[in-house]
Amino acid sequence: MQSLGARRVYHQSDGAAAPTLPLYRSPPPVEVRLEDFEAFAVDRLRVLKAISDGLSRGKKPEEMEKLVGELWRAHMKHPKPSVNKDVISHFVLRLVYCRTEDLRKWFLSMETTLFRYRFKDQSVEAQRALMADFDLPYKAVNTAEFESVKDKLSQVARSIGQPLQTADTIFYKVPFEEVPELVASRKVYIHQGNAYVAMNQVVSLVVTQFRSFLSKALILTNRKWTSSIKEQEKDRLTPIVEVLSTSYLGPDYSQPRESAEISLKDIDHLAKSSFPLCMRHLYEKLKEDHHLKHGGRMQLGLFLKGVGLKLDDALAFWRAEFSQKVGAERFEKEYAYNIRHSYGREGKRTDYTPFSCQKVISSTPGVGDHHGCPFRLFSEENLRAALGRMGVGNRGMDDIIDKVRNRHYQVACTLTFEAVHGSTCDAGINHPNQYFIDSQKILLSKKQPTM
Ligand code: SF4
Repeated sequence: MQSLGARRVYHQSDGAAAPTLPLYRSPPPVEVRLEDFEAFAVDRLRVLKAISDGLSRGKKPEEMEKLVGELWRAHMKHPKPSVNKDVISHFVLRLVYCRTEDLRKWFLSMETTLFRYRFKDQSVEAQRALMADFDLPYKAVNTAEFESVKDKLSQVARSIGQPLQTADTIFYKVPFEEVPELVASRKVYIHQGNAYVAMNQVVSLVVTQFRSFLSKALILTNRKWTSSIKEQEKDRLTPIVEVLSTSYLGPDYSQPRESAEISLKDIDHLAKSSFPLCMRHLYEKLKEDHHLKHGGRMQLGLFLKGVGLKLDDALAFWRAEFSQKVGAERFEKEYAYNIRHSYGREGKRTDYTPFSCQKVISSTPGVGDHHGCPFRLFSEENLRAALGRMGVGNRGMDDIIDKVRNRHYQVACTLTFEAVHGSTCDAGINHPNQYFIDSQKILLSKKQPTM
């Protein structure tokens, strides 16, 4: 693996042997087990998806810095220091995300954000080494020159509310046209065409470099993917690569949580208190029409199975509604089999898994269907009315609608959860069954007498 070779960067506190932030110049020439290939990529994807969620929720830079640090520690550490999970996972995801323009755009933006905060977390020595690695043509200002411009630098520092610069502070001389933002906001001293950029302002130069390098690399990977890798790897890597960009990364909700069980008589009040909007809508439509088409039956039925409705209760639940519309006999003939099937009791005995948000959001309901995600499908007027019925007040409403307009449906659902429960949901909503479980936890804890 050529992970910077002799030009590795070291974190001051990590001791001499621990490389920290690689520049991902070339893929690692190591054998990677197929399970690791996928598992490492999934872990990195968890980090990138949480960054994307943090950005779309409008987290501030300090909050993002903290979040990135926590995510990295939680998902990217590997017990064996010799395994470079960071570099391997980056290159797997390059394959996954090089394939369309939208995927490239998303990956580029998340990896650049990740790089920015990891760069800021490096020691000054490591940051300087990274700059050297990028071959940035900027020279650090030497002590004699620093002394000659010290007063001017101090003036600029004072004007932007920064502490006075000392001789330890490193400045770089950069052609002023390369730092238009710093020049426009008067955050740098300019002399003879050069801007004096302080070390703590240098991050944007490095990040720009990283972004442009990765952007070109993704185009090249895409060419290689389409011209050869996809075909060569069609039995081994290609199937993994193709599912990774759409895979659901949360816990498995195919079985109810330990000891969780709901009974027929609970469903009505649970629908009001703890169902996410997609399931609440289906439930209301079922009550109104005494019927749901196949897509709706699957989405609601598997959700109910996942939250702990036993097969007998499920049959009684659907029978009570459907027989009002189609009669008991037709229900037994045409519908009961499918319900037993979805519980793995008929046919191939496949145990169907409740749908994740990604799957619900990407479904395309036709006329007369009620499944799918209301945040994506409802008109603004209908959505406002439905949210109002869930108990979302005026204060939270505009934020939610704003997220919907920007097509951040899961973030909108998370904000709805928070508004309805008066409690935060830092992990974000990724699965309707997670919505239900988290809601129940909060409601039950409110019921517990306080000591
Ligand atoms: Fe349902 Fe997920 Fe849409 Fe929320 S974001 S309504 S849980 S599909």
